Amino acid sequence: MAKINILDKQTIDKIAAGEVIDRPLNVVKELIENSIDAQASAITIEIKDGGISFIRVTDDGAGIEKSEIKKAFMAHATSKIEGAEDLLKISSLGFRGEALSTISAVSMVNVITKTEDSLTGTSFNIDGGIEGEMTDIGAPCGTTFIVKDLFYNVPVRRKFLKSAQTEGSYISDLLEHIALSHPEIAFKFINNGKIVFATSGNGSLKEVIYRIYGRDTADKVLPLNIDSEIIKVEGYLGKPELNRSSRNFETFFVNGRYVNCPLVSKAAEEGYSNYLMMHKFPFLILQLSVDPSEVDVNVHPSKMEIRLHNSEEIYSIISKAIEERLSERELIPDAYLDEPEKEAPIEVKKAPEPFEKVRMTSKSLAFNMDFEEDTEPIANDSGSFRLYEDTNISETKVTPSNEDPDSYPQIKEASQMELFEDRFLTEDSKDKYEIFGQLFKTYWLIGFSDKLFIMDQHAAHEKVKYERIVNALKEKRIATQSINPPVILELSTKEYDTVSDYLDSFTALGFEIEDFGLNSIALRGMPVDLYGCDELEFFREVLDELMDNPLKGELSVIHYKLASMACKAAVKGNMKMNEQGVRALLDELLTLDNPYNCPHGRPTLVSISKYEIEKKFKRIVT
Ligand code: ADP
Ligand code: MG
Repeated sequence: MAKINILDKQTIDKIAAGEVIDRPLNVVKELIENSIDAQASAITIEIKDGGISFIRVTDDGAGIEKSEIKKAFMAHATSKIEGAEDLLKISSLGFRGEALSTISAVSMVNVITKTEDSLTGTSFNIDGGIEGEMTDIGAPCGTTFIVKDLFYNVPVRRKFLKSAQTEGSYISDLLEHIALSHPEIAFKFINNGKIVFATSGNGSLKEVIYRIYGRDTADKVLPLNIDSEIIKVEGYLGKPELNRSSRNFETFFVNGRYVNCPLVSKAAEEGYSNYLMMHKFPFLILQLSVDPSEVDVNVHPSKMEIRLHNSEEIYSIISKAIEERLSERELIPDAYLDEPEKEAPIEVKKAPEPFEKVRMTSKSLAFNMDFEEDTEPIANDSGSFRLYEDTNISETKVTPSNEDPDSYPQIKEASQMELFEDRFLTEDSKDKYEIFGQLFKTYWLIGFSDKLFIMDQHAAHEKVKYERIVNALKEKRIATQSINPPVILELSTKEYDTVSDYLDSFTALGFEIEDFGLNSIALRGMPVDLYGCDELEFFREVLDELMDNPLKGELSVIHYKLASMACKAAVKGNMKMNEQGVRALLDELLTLDNPYNCPHGRPTLVSISKYEIEKKFKRIVT
């Protein structure tokens, strides 16, 4: 019989480590959460090789007392709770007290830390769980963790890691979300020596959006505020032109935590439904506050999934608020003739640097930030992000305050312009349109105020048609013409079932359908001239669509979806149009609640300002 061994502490920790830490991402997450729990106002994260060979997290938080350092690395060592009863009122991010012990079991860790009360800092090493030296060292207040060679002593785990690039991208994604959830903390992320992003920590969420996603995105978000009894929401909605092909840009925080919440996701998409093409998802960042007792966090801890009680109410509050917000204002996207201007740098004064570098360049113990930066900034998404260009820093200085999110310099100009802009689609404006003509058989050029508007005639037509159908459906105005003799259609079982399920919807669209047995139906009536297309083909298209995307929701939602299907079938082929037709189309557009997007999310109008044009001709030099 095999001998039974009692495992030693290092082995136990190594095994346990796999459950908490399975990739560099987890190390970064645990270290940052500790920094946040330690009240840091600035956190710098540096990784190399996707975090596999090197992770450094530096914060300006409370630090760890020298006498407590070794304890911090013990399993179930935590300063955040004392006993089981505290678990109920926990508000800090980590509380299990196992992160440091597990990280140090599977990598080489160096921590340098100093509290405000102590005169010097302390450096401590612990490799593979084995305690090393503890020495006094000059250091600023706060803590730096350096984690090297993750899983160097657990080769199996190491084999399971993906490429450095992939591991790095996981970390990047996490850091973006953490930075978004803490606009009050200055984050700086350095990957293989390059600064990926830096936020100022001035408390403005919009500024963080700008720093992470670029100006182009930050210019296209609308603030959203919901203040209801059961839920408070603050955040930003991307205009429909920012719609994406994945849910990756739907970001939610519940009570300060970045979480997945399918309910909120669905509610948000419902709110956007008039503006989303199929398989597209909105860009949005929402901070939700609910009573902690309303949140069930144990649904899927590793996926960070949560569930909310009161879900139906919350769903409808969120979807309605979003829908209203989106339909509220002019959503005409600006068309730039040029790439948007290159950005000015931000001042990243608050972000702490890995300070051993400071020590190398300066003997002083003071936290000196004026050393030379050897890391090159890189461009973000929009290619517009440059940190250390030779530009006037004082002009773009970000002051830490509770200032209005719109008031930081780079975006100020744009939002002010919107405020004073003459609105294009109003009764008062329409006499002032100058219609110049048609371009590429599709686009109409219209002058108004100091802008050139370009209308996509198909998108505009589609929109007008769609609204007509929605209204007709709502008011039950769709007339039916009888077909005699009826058309008999043989359907597949699935088609037949779909027709039976949606009989009411088909009737609402003007079809008269009778069961003909054996998976057949008789079409006895068709809608009158509403869709301008072959009715039978239209019937087929609606049926296909319904099989792929079943209808859900309230009656009004169903109306919108049906109209959208009807509309798709209706707008095909080139339509001839003259100036009179354009005026009629504009007339009808301006009566609509949201004239600026076609039902599938494409814009109906874009505009180019006189300023843009003059810049192109170098009349204005910037
Ligand atoms: P937990 O966060 O669950 O308490 P950890 O193993 O992550 O457990 O950390 C153990 C303890 O070490 C923390 O409770 C805290 O007291 C201390 N600690 C860890 N990181 C920091 C930090 N960056 N600043 C201050 N204290 C820290
Ligand atoms: Mg922790």
